[in-house]
Amino acid sequence: MAVVDLLSGACAVRPAEDADAVDGVPAQAVARPADAQETSALLRACHDAGLAVVVRGHGSKITWGRAPERVDVVLETGGMAGLVEHSRGDLVATAGAGMPLDRLGELLAEARHQLVVDDLAAGRGADGAGSTLGGAVATGMCGPRRLWAGPVRDLVIGVRLVLADGTVARSGGKVVKNVAGYDLAKLLTGSYGTLAVITEVTVRLHPEPQEEVSVRARVSPDRLEATLALLVRSQLAPHTLEVSAAPGSDPLVTVGLGGSPGGTRQRADAVATSLASPDLAGGSVAVVDPGTPEDELPSGLADVDQQDSPAGTSTTRPVLVRTTGRLSGIPELVRVATDQGFGVTGSAGVGVLHARLPEETPPEQAHHALEQLRATSLRLGGSTVVLDAPPAVKSGLDAEATWGPVPGLDLMRRVKAEFDPGRLLAPGRFVGGL
Ligand SMILES: Cc1cc2nc3c(=O)[nH]c(=O)nc-3n(C[C@H](O)[C@H](O)[C@H](O)COP(=O)(O)OP(=O)(O)OC[C@H]3O[C@@H](n4cnc5c(N)ncnc54)[C@H](O)[C@@H]3O)c2cc1C
Repeated sequence: MAVVDLLSGACAVRPAEDADAVDGVPAQAVARPADAQETSALLRACHDAGLAVVVRGHGSKITWGRAPERVDVVLETGGMAGLVEHSRGDLVATAGAGMPLDRLGELLAEARHQLVVDDLAAGRGADGAGSTLGGAVATGMCGPRRLWAGPVRDLVIGVRLVLADGTVARSGGKVVKNVAGYDLAKLLTGSYGTLAVITEVTVRLHPEPQEEVSVRARVSPDRLEATLALLVRSQLAPHTLEVSAAPGSDPLVTVGLGGSPGGTRQRADAVATSLASPDLAGGSVAVVDPGTPEDELPSGLADVDQQDSPAGTSTTRPVLVRTTGRLSGIPELVRVATDQGFGVTGSAGVGVLHARLPEETPPEQAHHALEQLRATSLRLGGSTVVLDAPPAVKSGLDAEATWGPVPGLDLMRRVKAEFDPGRLLAPGRFVGGL
């Protein structure tokens, strides 16, 4: 029986088209469950028939990680895109996995609340709609404001999920105090859809700052270490501490501050004064209000400096890498990355950089650059993960070259075997070819 007919009793299903292929792997059917019960019925049917399932939100990061070994069914979360609850007093919200991050932001802004997750794939995916809440959680997506609010893993306080055999489960709670089951929600964060289908997420919110100001300084490479050391040690509690660099130009350091009116500006002025020391950035320091013309990025850096969108807003497919190291190692990581032709932007405050090579970089050159970057990040106590790459580059990378060495891989294999023994959820996508 055709896959569409087999699954049509579970939820809305249509035959897959060419555009539904996942990183070049064609699919047979696209299913759109409306809730956890329909997701359960669908996964049970797929389980019984041995069909491989890949979850898709807006598809903005569908090519991150390894291409799946096979795709029978694409499970779209767009039917589960509602705001279930916004508990204003508790600063907590629950929404369907298919809720667009943009839309969630609009709804929360009515109460001057926000989910502090930066969309690294803004403008990508279906209709340029950027990330969904489920996709952000599944990829462990973290951007500049991780310094302030912590990684997405710490903002997720509960999930509703459906296991590969159709079992519906809930982990965590609706209020921050209730930490029962916390670990399952953490386990799913960054699991790339390989352990379970997330259908609903409960998140911790933050109040919107009343005022935001940033301080921007161009720093010569030989002074970057001293500049970042000063800022990392600073007691001024910045929300972001970003460094951006392109081959052949001086790094740009941006410190974002937020809080009460007046006080925020004072702290920004204090940062600017420290940075203006001749040993650091010297005269090239600017205090910038968001949304003003000065807030526009200087030309030449825009390519790597889209802090909300390192993957860009077009359909280009650069080699996109997340590379990490201890904080004191960030200047070296920036130097090696730019020497290898990467544009870099990322958080010097948490030691996580995103680096990208232009799409047209020849595959051998890209592989060499990746090896150099990984060797440096490992020496600096971090890791280098290839999030995405053009097919010609990706085809030369196996699971090890994509994810790098992963401590605890045996444990992760056992967890995968427990959750998804039939390897039906995005088989091959994750570390170790899980
Ligand atoms: C089968 C399976 C088993 C898992 N078992 C556990 C577990 O036992 N304990 C637990 O805490 N979490 C586990 N996870 C969850 C996974 O490790 C989380 O994705 C991770 O904790 C999220 O961290 P992060 O947000 O910092 O992601 P990031 O650091 O942004 O990393 C993204 C993903 O890349 C992976 N990765 C690949 N290579 C590397 C590398 N060289 N260095 C660092 N990360 C790398 C991470 O595991 C992570 O999932 C498991 C996931 C899966 C799919």
